[in-house]
Amino acid sequence: MAATASPLFERVALIGIGLIGSSLARRMRRDGLVRTIAVSARTEATLAKVRELALAEETSLDPAAAAAGADLVVLCAPLGANAALAEKIGPALKPGAIVTDVGSAKRCVIRDVAPHVPAGVHFVPGHPVAGTEHSGPESGFPELFEGRWCILTPPAGTDEGAVARVRTLWEACGSLVEVMDANHHDHVLAITSHLPHLIAYTIVGTATDLAQQTQAEVIKFSASGFRDFTRIAASDPIMWRDIFLNNRDAVLEMLGRFTEDLTALQRAIRWGEADRLEDRFRKTRAIRRSVIAAKQA
Ligand code: NAP
Repeated sequence: MAATASPLFERVALIGIGLIGSSLARRMRRDGLVRTIAVSARTEATLAKVRELALAEETSLDPAAAAAGADLVVLCAPLGANAALAEKIGPALKPGAIVTDVGSAKRCVIRDVAPHVPAGVHFVPGHPVAGTEHSGPESGFPELFEGRWCILTPPAGTDEGAVARVRTLWEACGSLVEVMDANHHDHVLAITSHLPHLIAYTIVGTATDLAQQTQAEVIKFSASGFRDFTRIAASDPIMWRDIFLNNRDAVLEMLGRFTEDLTALQRAIRWGEADRLEDRFRKTRAIRRSVIAAKQA
């Protein structure tokens, strides 16, 4: 590991190490942000890959063994695994340790993890808003978080010093950090991330069914727009299953608004309302320009 005068943390435990956990490990190692990394995963095959890639000093199938003695524990498994993992690591956490996570929805993480965090241990939920459609420890890279937002959602009363230390780690990984309420996070992400994935999964599913029924040339002509949806719809099925099951209320609320707007566009097409269509498309084009201007394209 690259040496620095004073790493941000002595011992970090990554519980789960796929795209996000391995990107974090790579960045922490590259820049000497921590002294020791201990990793736990569900399968021996993943731990063997972690050793082959030299991502950690220690590997264990037992999450409690990885978390024992750690100053920082980062839960990096799918949302649905958090409750059981937190229950296992809870008794092993040392006083003063910080538990954080990278989950894509935040109310459910507080619901599942907070009850297992002992007194004297700090809990600072987090979500790096960065990713690709790839999974597993081999798919990570140290620049993943560069210029991307990381949202922290500490429950009321969380120790400010612990929040500051987690913020410093993400900033050292290249992220822009924002602190917000978990409820607000889940609503914002429902429209900016979760709904777009649901739409991609739907459109790719519909087109595939249609192609099977009619021998339509979906793959051949995919460059005409479909291709971008296939990339999003290639995202990890377990991760996305857990996101929809765990951010259900916010996703259903946004889906309700979306279907109303879709019906309005359907009506505009049916009645040949050219101005209405053009007006809507002009507004959305302006949004794309502001995303580019904000360097989030
Ligand atoms: P991933 O590549 O699929 O890796 C998941 C890791 O969790 C693997 O190490 C896996 O171990 C372990 N794991 C899976 N099920 C487990 C279980 N039941 N108990 C213990 N460990 C388990 O996942 P990822 O893409 O890094 O996503 C991890 C988290 O980051 C998710 O909560 C997701 O919401 C969040 N996130 C993802 C993205 C993204 O774009 N991918 C972006 C932001 C946040 P094995 O390999 O041994 O099975």
